[in-house]
Amino acid sequence: MKEAMYYDKLENLKVRCKLCPHNCRLGSGKTGICGVRRNVDGILYSLIYGETSSTHPDPIEKKPLYHFIPGSRAMSFGTVGCNFKCDFCQNSSISQADVERSSLMEITPKETVRMAKRAGCASIAWTYNEPTIWYEFTYDSSKLAHEAGIKNIYVTNGFINPEPLKNISPYLDAMNIDIKSFSEDFYHKIAGGRLNEVLDTCKLARDLNIHIELTYLVIPKLNDEAGEIEQYLHWVLRELGPDIPLHFSAFHPDFKMTDRERTPTSTLVNIYEQAKEMGLHYVFLGNVLADRGANTYCPSCDKCVIKRSYMGLRKNRIKDGKCPKCKTAIKIIQS
Ligand code: SF4
Repeated sequence: MKEAMYYDKLENLKVRCKLCPHNCRLGSGKTGICGVRRNVDGILYSLIYGETSSTHPDPIEKKPLYHFIPGSRAMSFGTVGCNFKCDFCQNSSISQADVERSSLMEITPKETVRMAKRAGCASIAWTYNEPTIWYEFTYDSSKLAHEAGIKNIYVTNGFINPEPLKNISPYLDAMNIDIKSFSEDFYHKIAGGRLNEVLDTCKLARDLNIHIELTYLVIPKLNDEAGEIEQYLHWVLRELGPDIPLHFSAFHPDFKMTDRERTPTSTLVNIYEQAKEMGLHYVFLGNVLADRGANTYCPSCDKCVIKRSYMGLRKNRIKDGKCPKCKTAIKIIQS
């Protein structure tokens, strides 16, 4: 166990964790909503420091990050636990696992960096389950990774308090942030979180110069209504601008939500067209075969500047950060 960062000691051996906006107030012996931070005799500990459930070098496109070092690989690490409880979670076997009953592999920050280098990865992705609740380990590892010239990525629900995000930001190069829906009611009832704080994280990450891409899992009859999507797109345009890469993914039945169909491809194609018409420059579709939804097009002349196949790069035609045809700058981090 490692003593946690970001908590206050209170009266009678109680503590308040300040890592995420749940701000759990815990009596001695109690564990937070995430299941991985516990108060032991008035000291808050991380139960997952140096404990990994899953490790794999993945194409960066799989995270998904489409405008961050395209064609590179990210050494990916996950552990257990989550501060959300999404009924549709596609990784519930680790996100909702009991830390005490999980068989986890021990790993050190140095080893994460060594593994990334050995596999020829340009980055480490903290992913598979919610990485922000693995804060202490990802922080220590990310510092070492930067010293070795390796970048760091959070694939996250964005439910983290501002101070910890600011603190790790010098070492955090990119985030893919899930937007579960554009409704507080959905976040409250189905995800066990709050939308407003997630939106604040998106704005703060942008202000901290972290590259961000957003992913919206489109669930039939729950968050796919045209008006809700329109509100979301307006918010992105107003608060983040048209160059933020937006991913819309197809839902498949999973965990507690097995009572509904996969997202029809036509729904995603309609959202794609809606987003493009509203002026978003980089829109992508995930978990479906939809050619346009996989590629990057120049926002000025519509030339296909990056061609992708399912989860991978096929051709990157961008030269010096520009469209090879009309020379418009493409907002992308190439290396
Ligand atoms: S990180 Fe865990 S313990 Fe801390 S406030 Fe969030 S849910 Fe609670």
